[in-house]
Amino acid sequence: MMKKYKVVYDKSSCIGAGACEFAFPEGWYYDKETSIATLKDPATEKTDAQEILIIDESTFEKHLEAAQVCPVAIIEIFDLETGKRVYP
Ligand code: SF4
Repeated sequence: MMKKYKVVYDKSSCIGAGACEFAFPEGWYYDKETSIATLKDPATEKTDAQEILIIDESTFEKHLEAAQVCPVAIIEIFDLETGKRVYP
């Protein structure tokens, strides 16, 4: 079975750098009008403050890259099974 992860994005703290989209354009969209990024996957749970997406190994490395280039480190990744923080 594929390992799963939870991406937790603190949208309310986005400073609009757009680096996430640059790192992983298939997964992240940076809206130039609102200066806020958003997860592209339609399975994403969205509120005004936060976005949560369950991913598996197939996109893990790319989401990790997006998280690592975010200058304010508001894209967190957790191991879904253990709940352990993978990043940051
Ligand atoms: S890299 Fe971080 S601060 Fe920049 S748009 Fe993406 S989430 Fe927002």
